[in-house]
Amino acid sequence: MPALARMNAYFTILFAAVLILHLSIKLWLSGRQARHVARNADAVPEQFAATIGLQDHQRAARYTLAKQRLGIVQTITGTVVFVALTWGGGLQWLVDHLGALAGNGLLFDVAVVACVAAFLTLVDLPLDWIRSFRLEQEFGFNRMTQAMFFADAAKSLLLGAVIGLPVLAVVLWLMRSAGSAWWLAAWAFWSVFSLLLGVIYPWLIAPLFNRFTPLGEGPLRTRIAALLTRTGFRSNGVYTMDGSRRSTHGNAYFTGLGAAKRIVFYDTLVARLGPDELEAVLAHELGHFRLNHVRKRLVSGLAITLAWLALLGWLQTQAWFAPSLGVVTPTGAPGNGLLLVLFALVGPLFAFVLAPAYSALSRRHEFEADAFAAQHVSAQSLVQALVKLYQDNASTLTPDPLHSAFYDSHPPAAVRINRLLARAPASP
Ligand SMILES: [Zn+2]
Repeated sequence: MPALARMNAYFTILFAAVLILHLSIKLWLSGRQARHVARNADAVPEQFAATIGLQDHQRAARYTLAKQRLGIVQTITGTVVFVALTWGGGLQWLVDHLGALAGNGLLFDVAVVACVAAFLTLVDLPLDWIRSFRLEQEFGFNRMTQAMFFADAAKSLLLGAVIGLPVLAVVLWLMRSAGSAWWLAAWAFWSVFSLLLGVIYPWLIAPLFNRFTPLGEGPLRTRIAALLTRTGFRSNGVYTMDGSRRSTHGNAYFTGLGAAKRIVFYDTLVARLGPDELEAVLAHELGHFRLNHVRKRLVSGLAITLAWLALLGWLQTQAWFAPSLGVVTPTGAPGNGLLLVLFALVGPLFAFVLAPAYSALSRRHEFEADAFAAQHVSAQSLVQALVKLYQDNASTLTPDPLHSAFYDSHPPAAVRINRLLARAPASP
Protein backbone atom coordinates (compact mmCIF):
# COMPACT_ATOMS: atom_id res chain seq x y z
CA MET A 1 0.00 0.00 0.00
CA PRO A 2 1.42 3.45 -0.85
CA ALA A 3 2.31 5.65 2.11
CA LEU A 4 -0.58 8.07 1.69
CA ALA A 5 -3.21 5.33 1.37
CA ARG A 6 -1.79 3.75 4.54
CA MET A 7 -2.02 7.08 6.41
CA ASN A 8 -5.62 7.49 5.21
CA ALA A 9 -6.50 4.04 6.52
CA TYR A 10 -4.78 4.64 9.88
CA PHE A 11 -6.57 7.91 10.45
CA THR A 12 -9.92 6.55 9.28
CA ILE A 13 -9.58 3.87 11.96
CA LEU A 14 -8.50 6.45 14.56
CA PHE A 15 -11.42 8.79 13.83
CA ALA A 16 -13.93 5.92 13.77
CA ALA A 17 -12.58 4.64 17.10
CA VAL A 18 -12.82 8.09 18.69
CA LEU A 19 -16.37 8.50 17.36
CA ILE A 20 -17.44 5.17 18.87
CA LEU A 21 -15.68 5.95 22.15
CA HIS A 22 -17.37 9.36 22.32
CA LEU A 23 -20.78 7.81 21.69
CA SER A 24 -20.21 5.03 24.22
CA ILE A 25 -19.06 7.35 27.00
CA LYS A 26 -22.01 9.66 26.48
CA LEU A 27 -24.56 6.83 26.49
CA TRP A 28 -22.90 5.18 29.48
CA LEU A 29 -22.93 8.40 31.53
CA SER A 30 -26.52 9.01 30.52
CA GLY A 31 -27.52 5.53 31.66
CA ARG A 32 -25.72 6.03 34.98
CA GLN A 33 -27.49 9.33 35.58
CA ALA A 34 -30.91 7.84 34.78
CA ARG A 35 -30.37 4.85 37.08
CA HIS A 36 -28.99 6.93 39.93
CA VAL A 37 -31.85 9.44 39.80
CA ALA A 38 -34.49 6.69 39.54
CA ARG A 39 -32.95 4.83 42.49
CA ASN A 40 -33.11 7.93 44.68
CA ALA A 41 -36.56 9.11 43.63
CA ASP A 42 -38.43 7.56 46.55
CA ALA A 43 -37.04 9.72 49.32
CA VAL A 44 -36.05 13.38 49.57
CA PRO A 45 -32.41 13.64 50.75
CA GLU A 46 -32.37 14.33 54.46
CA GLN A 47 -30.97 17.85 54.31
CA PHE A 48 -33.80 18.95 51.97
CA ALA A 49 -36.55 17.05 53.77
CA ALA A 50 -37.79 20.18 55.53
CA THR A 51 -37.84 22.38 52.43
CA ILE A 52 -38.68 20.21 49.41
CA GLY A 53 -41.68 17.88 49.29
CA LEU A 54 -41.68 14.34 47.95
CA GLN A 55 -43.90 15.34 45.02
CA ASP A 56 -41.45 18.02 43.89
CA HIS A 57 -38.56 15.60 44.33
CA GLN A 58 -40.26 13.00 42.16
CA ARG A 59 -41.20 15.58 39.55
CA ALA A 60 -37.51 16.56 39.38
CA ALA A 61 -36.62 12.89 38.89
CA ARG A 62 -39.13 12.49 36.05
CA TYR A 63 -37.87 15.70 34.44
CA THR A 64 -34.25 14.58 34.69
CA LEU A 65 -35.09 11.21 33.12
CA ALA A 66 -37.02 12.89 30.30
CA LYS A 67 -34.05 15.21 29.66
CA GLN A 68 -31.73 12.20 29.53
CA ARG A 69 -33.96 10.47 26.97
CA LEU A 70 -33.96 13.52 24.72
CA GLY A 71 -30.20 13.81 25.23
CA ILE A 72 -29.74 10.24 24.02
CA VAL A 73 -31.78 10.96 20.88
CA GLN A 74 -29.60 14.03 20.31
CA THR A 75 -26.35 12.10 20.81
CA ILE A 76 -27.38 9.36 18.40
CA THR A 77 -28.60 11.90 15.84
CA GLY A 78 -25.25 13.70 16.07
CA THR A 79 -23.36 10.47 15.43
CA VAL A 80 -25.57 9.54 12.45
CA VAL A 81 -25.13 13.03 10.97
CA PHE A 82 -21.35 12.80 11.42
CA VAL A 83 -21.17 9.47 9.59
CA ALA A 84 -23.59 10.63 6.86
CA LEU A 85 -21.54 13.76 6.18
CA THR A 86 -18.13 12.09 6.21
CA TRP A 87 -17.85 8.43 5.19
CA GLY A 88 -21.49 8.39 4.07
CA GLY A 89 -20.57 10.73 1.23
CA GLY A 90 -22.63 13.82 2.19
CA LEU A 91 -19.72 16.24 2.08
CA GLN A 92 -18.32 14.60 -1.06
CA TRP A 93 -21.67 15.14 -2.77
CA LEU A 94 -21.81 18.77 -1.61
CA VAL A 95 -18.26 19.54 -2.72
CA ASP A 96 -18.79 17.93 -6.14
CA HIS A 97 -21.99 19.87 -6.80
CA LEU A 98 -20.83 23.19 -5.34
CA GLY A 99 -17.53 22.90 -7.18
CA ALA A 100 -19.43 22.78 -10.47
CA LEU A 101 -21.37 25.92 -9.48
CA ALA A 102 -18.91 28.04 -7.53
CA GLY A 103 -15.46 27.04 -8.82
CA ASN A 104 -12.79 26.70 -6.17
CA GLY A 105 -12.32 30.29 -5.02
CA LEU A 106 -13.29 32.06 -1.82
CA LEU A 107 -16.97 31.91 -2.77
CA PHE A 108 -16.79 28.12 -2.93
CA ASP A 109 -15.13 27.95 0.50
CA VAL A 110 -17.77 30.20 2.08
CA ALA A 111 -20.59 28.27 0.37
CA VAL A 112 -19.35 24.90 1.68
CA VAL A 113 -19.32 26.10 5.29
CA ALA A 114 -22.63 27.96 4.96
CA CYS A 115 -24.40 24.93 3.45
CA VAL A 116 -23.20 22.60 6.18
CA ALA A 117 -24.08 25.12 8.91
CA ALA A 118 -27.56 25.54 7.44
CA PHE A 119 -27.98 21.76 7.23
CA LEU A 120 -26.93 21.24 10.87
CA THR A 121 -29.32 24.01 11.95
CA LEU A 122 -32.15 22.25 10.11
CA VAL A 123 -31.31 18.94 11.78
CA ASP A 124 -31.37 20.63 15.21
CA LEU A 125 -34.67 22.39 14.64
CA PRO A 126 -37.00 19.39 15.22
CA LEU A 127 -35.04 18.45 18.35
CA ASP A 128 -35.35 22.01 19.66
CA TRP A 129 -39.06 21.90 18.88
CA ILE A 130 -39.45 18.67 20.84
CA ARG A 131 -37.56 20.19 23.75
CA SER A 132 -39.88 23.21 23.95
CA PHE A 133 -43.24 21.71 23.00
CA ARG A 134 -42.94 18.22 24.41
CA LEU A 135 -40.38 18.10 27.24
CA GLU A 136 -40.68 21.63 28.65
CA GLN A 137 -44.40 21.77 27.90
CA GLU A 138 -45.10 18.53 29.72
CA PHE A 139 -43.42 19.82 32.88
CA GLY A 140 -45.13 23.19 32.69
CA PHE A 141 -41.99 25.21 31.89
CA ASN A 142 -42.74 26.26 28.34
CA ARG A 143 -44.38 29.62 27.71
CA MET A 144 -43.40 29.90 24.05
CA THR A 145 -45.95 29.81 21.24
CA GLN A 146 -45.19 28.10 17.94
CA ALA A 147 -45.02 31.54 16.30
CA MET A 148 -42.38 32.71 18.78
CA PHE A 149 -40.39 29.52 18.33
CA PHE A 150 -40.15 29.93 14.57
CA ALA A 151 -39.59 33.69 14.82
CA ASP A 152 -36.65 33.00 17.18
CA ALA A 153 -35.26 30.41 14.79
CA ALA A 154 -35.55 32.81 11.84
CA LYS A 155 -33.91 35.63 13.80
CA SER A 156 -31.03 33.38 14.87
CA LEU A 157 -30.49 32.21 11.32
CA LEU A 158 -30.56 35.77 9.97
CA LEU A 159 -28.22 36.95 12.70
CA GLY A 160 -25.91 34.02 11.95
CA ALA A 161 -25.86 35.03 8.30
CA VAL A 162 -25.40 38.78 8.89
CA ILE A 163 -22.60 38.38 11.46
CA GLY A 164 -21.31 34.90 10.69
CA LEU A 165 -20.86 35.07 6.93
CA PRO A 166 -18.57 38.15 6.85
CA VAL A 167 -16.49 36.76 9.76
CA LEU A 168 -16.26 33.42 7.97
CA ALA A 169 -15.26 35.11 4.73
CA VAL A 170 -12.44 37.00 6.48
CA VAL A 171 -11.10 33.83 8.14
CA LEU A 172 -11.27 31.85 4.88
CA TRP A 173 -9.61 34.71 3.02
CA LEU A 174 -6.78 34.77 5.60
CA MET A 175 -6.42 31.00 5.22
CA ARG A 176 -5.72 31.37 1.52
CA SER A 177 -3.83 34.68 1.50
CA ALA A 178 -1.88 35.13 4.73
CA GLY A 179 0.78 32.48 4.15
CA SER A 180 1.73 29.63 6.45
CA ALA A 181 1.17 31.69 9.60
CA TRP A 182 -2.42 32.51 8.58
CA TRP A 183 -3.65 30.98 11.82
CA LEU A 184 -1.93 33.70 13.84
CA ALA A 185 -3.60 36.39 11.73
CA ALA A 186 -6.93 34.58 11.98
CA TRP A 187 -6.49 34.38 15.75
CA ALA A 188 -5.79 38.11 16.03
CA PHE A 189 -8.88 38.83 13.94
CA TRP A 190 -11.02 36.43 15.96
CA SER A 191 -9.83 37.88 19.28
CA VAL A 192 -10.74 41.42 18.26
CA PHE A 193 -14.08 40.21 16.91
CA SER A 194 -15.03 38.33 20.08
CA LEU A 195 -14.07 41.25 22.31
CA LEU A 196 -16.19 43.51 20.15
CA LEU A 197 -19.05 41.02 20.31
CA GLY A 198 -18.76 40.97 24.11
CA VAL A 199 -19.22 44.74 24.13
CA ILE A 200 -22.09 44.97 21.64
CA TYR A 201 -23.96 41.80 22.65
CA PRO A 202 -25.85 43.20 25.67
CA TRP A 203 -27.19 46.28 23.89
CA LEU A 204 -27.46 45.20 20.24
CA ILE A 205 -28.11 41.47 20.08
CA ALA A 206 -29.75 40.35 23.33
CA PRO A 207 -32.54 42.98 22.93
CA LEU A 208 -33.55 41.32 19.65
CA PHE A 209 -34.85 38.41 21.71
CA ASN A 210 -35.82 39.92 25.06
CA ARG A 211 -36.77 43.18 26.69
CA PHE A 212 -34.36 44.49 29.32
CA THR A 213 -35.60 46.92 31.94
CA PRO A 214 -33.37 48.68 34.47
CA LEU A 215 -34.37 47.58 37.93
CA GLY A 216 -36.95 50.13 39.15
CA GLU A 217 -36.62 52.47 42.16
CA GLY A 218 -37.61 50.90 45.44
CA PRO A 219 -36.23 49.13 48.51
CA LEU A 220 -34.69 46.36 46.40
CA ARG A 221 -32.86 48.85 44.18
CA THR A 222 -31.54 50.68 47.26
CA ARG A 223 -30.21 47.47 48.78
CA ILE A 224 -28.62 46.45 45.54
CA ALA A 225 -26.98 49.85 45.12
CA ALA A 226 -25.52 49.47 48.62
CA LEU A 227 -24.21 46.00 47.78
CA LEU A 228 -22.63 47.26 44.56
CA THR A 229 -20.84 50.04 46.43
CA ARG A 230 -19.76 47.67 49.20
CA THR A 231 -18.18 45.31 46.69
CA GLY A 232 -16.62 48.10 44.60
CA PHE A 233 -18.61 47.38 41.46
CA ARG A 234 -19.30 49.92 38.76
CA SER A 235 -21.42 48.95 35.82
CA ASN A 236 -24.19 49.92 33.49
CA GLY A 237 -26.41 48.44 36.05
CA VAL A 238 -28.81 45.77 37.00
CA TYR A 239 -31.57 44.77 34.61
CA THR A 240 -34.54 42.49 34.61
CA MET A 241 -35.27 40.46 31.50
CA ASP A 242 -38.68 39.19 30.38
CA GLY A 243 -37.59 35.53 30.49
CA SER A 244 -41.19 34.63 31.37
CA ARG A 245 -42.15 35.13 27.70
CA ARG A 246 -40.44 31.85 26.85
CA SER A 247 -40.07 29.80 29.99
CA THR A 248 -40.82 29.70 33.69
CA HIS A 249 -37.21 28.70 34.44
CA GLY A 250 -35.52 31.41 36.49
CA ASN A 251 -31.92 32.54 36.30
CA ALA A 252 -29.48 35.39 36.74
CA TYR A 253 -26.37 36.07 34.73
CA PHE A 254 -23.53 38.41 34.09
CA THR A 255 -22.97 39.74 30.59
CA GLY A 256 -20.89 42.15 28.55
CA LEU A 257 -17.37 43.47 28.80
CA GLY A 258 -15.81 46.65 30.14
CA ALA A 259 -18.25 49.52 30.51
CA ALA A 260 -20.98 47.47 28.81
CA LYS A 261 -21.12 44.87 31.55
CA ARG A 262 -24.41 44.33 33.29
CA ILE A 263 -26.19 41.96 35.59
CA VAL A 264 -29.43 40.46 34.38
CA PHE A 265 -32.18 38.92 36.51
CA TYR A 266 -34.96 36.96 34.84
CA ASP A 267 -38.32 38.45 35.78
CA THR A 268 -39.33 34.95 36.90
CA LEU A 269 -36.55 35.09 39.50
CA VAL A 270 -37.53 38.55 40.73
CA ALA A 271 -41.14 37.38 41.12
CA ARG A 272 -40.14 34.29 43.06
CA LEU A 273 -37.32 35.40 45.39
CA GLY A 274 -37.51 37.77 48.34
CA PRO A 275 -35.22 40.84 48.55
CA ASP A 276 -32.71 39.01 50.82
CA GLU A 277 -32.50 36.13 48.39
CA LEU A 278 -32.15 38.33 45.31
CA GLU A 279 -29.41 40.28 47.02
CA ALA A 280 -27.64 36.99 47.79
CA VAL A 281 -27.90 35.82 44.17
CA LEU A 282 -26.52 39.16 43.01
CA ALA A 283 -23.65 38.89 45.51
CA HIS A 284 -22.80 35.51 43.99
CA GLU A 285 -22.77 36.98 40.47
CA LEU A 286 -20.61 39.89 41.66
CA GLY A 287 -18.25 37.28 43.09
CA HIS A 288 -17.71 35.91 39.60
CA PHE A 289 -16.76 39.37 38.46
CA ARG A 290 -14.69 40.41 41.49
CA LEU A 291 -12.69 37.16 41.50
CA ASN A 292 -11.86 37.67 37.81
CA HIS A 293 -13.71 34.57 36.66
CA VAL A 294 -15.07 36.46 33.68
CA ARG A 295 -11.61 37.64 32.66
CA LYS A 296 -10.02 34.22 33.26
CA ARG A 297 -12.67 32.56 31.12
CA LEU A 298 -12.12 35.08 28.34
CA VAL A 299 -8.33 34.70 28.36
CA SER A 300 -8.43 30.90 28.52
CA GLY A 301 -10.99 30.91 25.70
CA LEU A 302 -8.63 32.94 23.52
CA ALA A 303 -5.68 30.66 24.39
CA ILE A 304 -7.70 27.57 23.47
CA THR A 305 -8.75 29.17 20.18
CA LEU A 306 -5.08 29.83 19.39
CA ALA A 307 -4.20 26.18 20.03
CA TRP A 308 -7.07 24.98 17.83
CA LEU A 309 -6.12 27.34 15.01
CA ALA A 310 -2.48 26.23 15.18
CA LEU A 311 -3.67 22.64 14.92
CA LEU A 312 -5.86 23.56 11.96
CA GLY A 313 -2.84 25.27 10.36
CA TRP A 314 -0.94 22.00 10.66
CA LEU A 315 -3.84 19.87 9.39
CA GLN A 316 -4.05 22.10 6.32
CA THR A 317 -0.67 20.67 5.27
CA GLN A 318 -1.63 17.04 5.91
CA ALA A 319 -2.79 15.25 2.74
CA TRP A 320 -4.47 12.42 4.71
CA PHE A 321 -6.89 14.58 6.66
CA ALA A 322 -9.81 14.98 4.23
CA PRO A 323 -9.53 11.54 2.55
CA SER A 324 -9.45 9.77 5.91
CA LEU A 325 -12.83 11.40 6.59
CA GLY A 326 -14.24 10.29 3.27
CA VAL A 327 -13.73 13.35 1.05
CA VAL A 328 -11.49 13.33 -2.03
CA THR A 329 -11.19 16.32 -4.35
CA PRO A 330 -9.87 16.27 -7.94
CA THR A 331 -6.88 18.50 -7.08
CA GLY A 332 -6.09 16.54 -3.92
CA ALA A 333 -6.33 19.75 -1.85
CA PRO A 334 -9.64 19.79 0.04
CA GLY A 335 -10.07 23.56 0.02
CA ASN A 336 -10.27 25.66 3.16
CA GLY A 337 -14.05 25.60 3.54
CA LEU A 338 -14.11 21.82 3.61
CA LEU A 339 -11.10 21.79 5.92
CA LEU A 340 -12.93 24.06 8.36
CA VAL A 341 -16.06 21.88 8.24
CA LEU A 342 -14.15 18.64 8.84
CA PHE A 343 -12.23 20.25 11.68
CA ALA A 344 -15.46 21.51 13.26
CA LEU A 345 -16.91 17.99 13.04
CA VAL A 346 -13.89 16.11 14.40
CA GLY A 347 -12.61 18.67 16.93
CA PRO A 348 -15.43 18.27 19.48
CA LEU A 349 -14.94 14.48 19.54
CA PHE A 350 -11.40 15.00 20.80
CA ALA A 351 -12.25 18.03 22.96
CA PHE A 352 -14.84 15.89 24.75
CA VAL A 353 -12.12 14.41 26.96
CA LEU A 354 -11.48 17.94 28.26
CA ALA A 355 -15.09 18.39 29.41
CA PRO A 356 -14.43 17.09 32.95
CA ALA A 357 -11.54 19.53 33.42
CA TYR A 358 -13.63 22.42 32.19
CA SER A 359 -16.57 21.41 34.40
CA ALA A 360 -14.29 21.06 37.43
CA LEU A 361 -12.88 24.54 36.89
CA SER A 362 -16.38 25.94 36.52
CA ARG A 363 -17.50 24.26 39.75
CA ARG A 364 -14.48 25.70 41.56
CA HIS A 365 -15.53 29.16 40.39
CA GLU A 366 -19.04 28.51 41.68
CA PHE A 367 -17.69 27.61 45.13
CA GLU A 368 -15.53 30.73 45.13
CA ALA A 369 -18.44 32.94 44.12
CA ASP A 370 -20.56 31.36 46.87
CA ALA A 371 -17.81 32.07 49.41
CA PHE A 372 -17.65 35.67 48.18
CA ALA A 373 -21.42 36.00 48.58
CA ALA A 374 -21.24 34.56 52.10
CA GLN A 375 -18.74 37.29 53.03
CA HIS A 376 -21.02 40.11 51.91
CA VAL A 377 -24.55 38.90 52.54
CA SER A 378 -26.17 36.16 54.58
CA ALA A 379 -25.20 32.67 53.42
CA GLN A 380 -28.56 31.51 54.71
CA SER A 381 -30.33 33.74 52.17
CA LEU A 382 -28.32 32.26 49.33
CA VAL A 383 -29.18 28.76 50.53
CA GLN A 384 -32.88 29.68 50.58
CA ALA A 385 -32.64 31.13 47.08
CA LEU A 386 -30.87 28.02 45.77
CA VAL A 387 -33.43 25.68 47.30
CA LYS A 388 -36.24 27.65 45.63
CA LEU A 389 -34.38 27.49 42.33
CA TYR A 390 -33.77 23.73 42.56
CA GLN A 391 -37.45 23.28 43.35
CA ASP A 392 -38.82 25.59 40.65
CA ASN A 393 -36.46 24.35 37.93
CA ALA A 394 -37.02 20.69 38.92
CA SER A 395 -33.25 20.22 39.18
CA THR A 396 -32.33 16.84 40.58
CA LEU A 397 -30.92 16.84 44.11
CA THR A 398 -29.39 13.40 43.56
CA PRO A 399 -27.25 13.43 40.40
CA ASP A 400 -24.95 10.51 39.63
CA PRO A 401 -21.54 11.61 40.99
CA LEU A 402 -19.66 10.61 37.85
CA HIS A 403 -22.15 12.21 35.46
CA SER A 404 -22.02 15.33 37.57
CA ALA A 405 -18.21 15.37 37.67
CA PHE A 406 -18.11 15.08 33.89
CA TYR A 407 -20.74 17.60 32.83
CA ASP A 408 -21.96 19.85 35.61
CA SER A 409 -20.89 23.47 35.59
CA HIS A 410 -22.42 23.84 39.06
CA PRO A 411 -21.71 21.68 42.11
CA PRO A 412 -24.34 19.11 43.14
CA ALA A 413 -27.04 20.69 45.30
CA ALA A 414 -26.13 18.90 48.53
CA VAL A 415 -22.40 19.66 48.33
CA ARG A 416 -22.97 23.28 47.46
CA ILE A 417 -25.45 23.90 50.24
CA ASN A 418 -23.36 22.08 52.85
CA ARG A 419 -20.43 24.34 52.08
CA LEU A 420 -22.62 27.44 52.35
CA LEU A 421 -24.15 26.30 55.63
CA ALA A 422 -20.67 25.75 57.03
CA ARG A 423 -20.06 29.46 56.40
CA ALA A 424 -23.34 30.62 57.93
CA PRO A 425 -23.28 31.57 61.61
CA ALA A 426 -25.20 28.95 63.59
CA SER A 427 -28.72 30.12 64.29
CA PRO A 428 -29.35 30.80 68.00
ZN1 LIG B 1 -22.29 31.20 39.50
